[in-house]
Amino acid sequence: MYKRAHEVSVFGEAIAYFNEAAEILDLDAGTRAILTHPSRQIVVAIPFQRDSGELEVYTGYRVQYNFMRGPAKGGIRFHPGVTLDEVTALAFWMTWKCAVVDLPFGGGKGGVTCDPTTLSAGELERITRRYAAELVEVIGPDKDVPAPDLGTNPQIMAWFMDTYSMHVRQNTPGIVTGKPVELGGSRGRIEATGRGVALCAIDQLREMGRDVASSRIIIQGFGNVGSVTAKMFAEHGARVIGISDVSGGYYNPAGIDVARAIRYCEEHRSLEGYRDGERISNQQLLEQPCDVLVPAALEDQITLENAGRIKAALIVEGANGPTRPEADRILEDRGIIVVPDIIANAGGVIVSYFEWCQDRAGFFWKESEVNERLADQLLGNFRQVRELARRRGLPLRTAAYVVAIDRVVRALRMRGIYA
Ligand code: NAD
Repeated sequence: MYKRAHEVSVFGEAIAYFNEAAEILDLDAGTRAILTHPSRQIVVAIPFQRDSGELEVYTGYRVQYNFMRGPAKGGIRFHPGVTLDEVTALAFWMTWKCAVVDLPFGGGKGGVTCDPTTLSAGELERITRRYAAELVEVIGPDKDVPAPDLGTNPQIMAWFMDTYSMHVRQNTPGIVTGKPVELGGSRGRIEATGRGVALCAIDQLREMGRDVASSRIIIQGFGNVGSVTAKMFAEHGARVIGISDVSGGYYNPAGIDVARAIRYCEEHRSLEGYRDGERISNQQLLEQPCDVLVPAALEDQITLENAGRIKAALIVEGANGPTRPEADRILEDRGIIVVPDIIANAGGVIVSYFEWCQDRAGFFWKESEVNERLADQLLGNFRQVRELARRRGLPLRTAAYVVAIDRVVRALRMRGIYA
């Protein structure tokens, strides 16, 4: 049985940030009640046949949290820890992530409780197709647009798109984002999240009057987000002094050769055995002195226990939820600036939006155009958040929630309540 790190309601915890921002916005009780209730929660049974011929049933979820600014948008997670509570919290977060970077989407999320590492390609395909078929009536390019998340990938999106297209009897690439480029995916999507993390970090360093080229960077997690972030920093001349993955931390104050580490990881599927630098634990890595710390692996990494020992000037959250709320307060008291996940890792959903636009127009952009628009959309909104934070004396995270909630509330007030 899969056990999560702390047995509390993830959705209950997520609401704490909302409540803080709702106070600042002086939201009335009715509006708060509307925004703390998911619009729709769907639970489906997914019967499927194992390669052995045995029949099994998994449970799938889709939560469409809010539609005020547009169709629901959010990933599909295949993981043993998926629960309705977790999916609801993630859909709630997607609502604010889409709003804070000003995308015409609401928030959604989905998942199937399963362990994809134990499933064959054929089993994964059958699960994906049945899950998509169960949702056909409630999803669509103008209703709800899924994407990959933990345990899912472009191939799974291709099966999902094909199943939906077969049911509605027309090719519908805009039903999901994160597809292979050959099937209507966007150029630049794979790198978008890491690119966005680095763009936010560089913009914030400049705001703090620090020279990017002489900055020391530590990155936890060397997967999609962490490795692209490291590459972008190296391209700007910054010194990446620490990286890590599930095999542990690698620390070299003289600077790690990022291109070599990426090649090593591609060849060996992890950093295990990598020799450029001292081998330290993931915990030790987080506590080394640096200018920028990028947690880009898992949630709950900066906690009450270690927040007092973090020696970074700036934390840029590549992962979702890497900082516990109690740790946030300690970091704030210590003057450590945190660029929150809902902005820092929004590059992926921004380029997902571009993919949806390109699919609907049937016209595909050059990678340079995608990257240029990504920088405009992300940094334009980040600077608005920073300006509000400065004016009202708020941490960036609170300011981000205030901007996002205010945008959703405006849409709600203009549309009104139907019936
Ligand atoms: P990934 O699977 O490609 O990489 C995860 C990395 O974390 C791997 O290098 C893995 O070895 C490492 N890792 C796992 N356990 C670790 C541990 N205990 N200590 C240190 N490293 C560990 O995943 P990803 O797509 O890079 O996503 C990373 C984070 O970013 C996740 O929190 C994800 O939700 C978030 N995120 C990703 C995207 C995206 O577009 N990929 C978008 C938004 C948010």
